[in-house]
Amino acid sequence: MQARILALLRDEGPLSRVQLADRIGVSRTTIAAEVGRLGDVGLTQEAGPAESRGGRRSTLVDLAPDIRFVGISIGATAMSVGVTDGRLAVLATRTRSCDIRQGPEVVLAAAIEEVRELLAEVGVEQPMGVGIGVPGPVDFSRGVSVSPPIMPGWDGYPVRDAMSREFGCPVVLDNDVNVMALGEQHSGVARTTRDFLFVKIGTGIGCGIVVDGELYRGVDGCAGDIGHIRVEDVGPTCACGNTGCLEAFSGGAALARDATAAARSGRSPVLAALLEQNGVLTAADVGTAVSAGDAPSLQLIRDSGQRIGQVLATLVSFLNPGLIVIGGRVTGIGHALLAEIRGVTYRRSLSLATNKLPIVLSELGDEAGVIGAAWLISGAVYAPGSASRS
Ligand SMILES: [Zn+2]
Repeated sequence: MQARILALLRDEGPLSRVQLADRIGVSRTTIAAEVGRLGDVGLTQEAGPAESRGGRRSTLVDLAPDIRFVGISIGATAMSVGVTDGRLAVLATRTRSCDIRQGPEVVLAAAIEEVRELLAEVGVEQPMGVGIGVPGPVDFSRGVSVSPPIMPGWDGYPVRDAMSREFGCPVVLDNDVNVMALGEQHSGVARTTRDFLFVKIGTGIGCGIVVDGELYRGVDGCAGDIGHIRVEDVGPTCACGNTGCLEAFSGGAALARDATAAARSGRSPVLAALLEQNGVLTAADVGTAVSAGDAPSLQLIRDSGQRIGQVLATLVSFLNPGLIVIGGRVTGIGHALLAEIRGVTYRRSLSLATNKLPIVLSELGDEAGVIGAAWLISGAVYAPGSASRS
């Protein structure tokens, strides 16, 4: 009950006791008692008179203004960290590059440093909880990452417990794509949708699955690992060791690889110039080259979008979602990629399933993971038994 009250206040803002009683379906007396207890432990406070509905004036209840959560979203090549209030409004956030292959000690130390600086910036010593997303499968109940193909040294590493010791508060760990999907559900374009897919196209490719309002993780935490769906029998070797995986063709790392080949072979003078200038090429450079009218780069993006769309069409037939949100760093190359993905997905799915299916780019960008990670830990902190403050 306390968890539901806190979650309602988080998701909907200040509510009167009458509204809380109606939403949860219990008596006003019960709500009044529970709200009293939450106030005693400093989680809620009175927030002025509610609009009168003709009867007795009611007072609004709101979350305490000093609740602070930390959200950390670690990708393969970049991490975003942020501090939010109890309703998950982002008070401060930053994104920096990192290399997940450096292992958990180095990467988590960098995350801790960023969080400490952000907490100082907003004048907080101790967050109420920390949510973390990492770019690989996670054993959600144990709080460890599990045999991630692109993350040497992370297999079985106790991320949750290590970070909980560091910050002296509860910590939850999930897959980065899952936390981004949760962020979209709470604050992004998926706010009004109960069934949607969040597709992250970064170095790799993954998919967060929300069914009937709930995130679906699968038995082993690998649900939505669509980057390793085989799209061709032969193809480049993937980070997972197999060949023909979607992300080995179409992920950010694959785009950078193919762009480099196009530059070296002389097929793309624009990419060759960018390579000479920067020393390496990234997926973002392919976008730059497309803007400059480079035909080989546009072809790379089209090929990538084709294969992603092909997999999404299968997912649409299987799950009949109400929305697909495309996010991740590669969305920097945005609209050309989105157009191709849309075209193939719509063409290859039954029209009944796509008549009302928007496929859109994320509007939250790097904040999706921060908000989603904060959402995840807020649910754990607000849950029964945890509703107390140190
Ligand atoms: Zn693979």
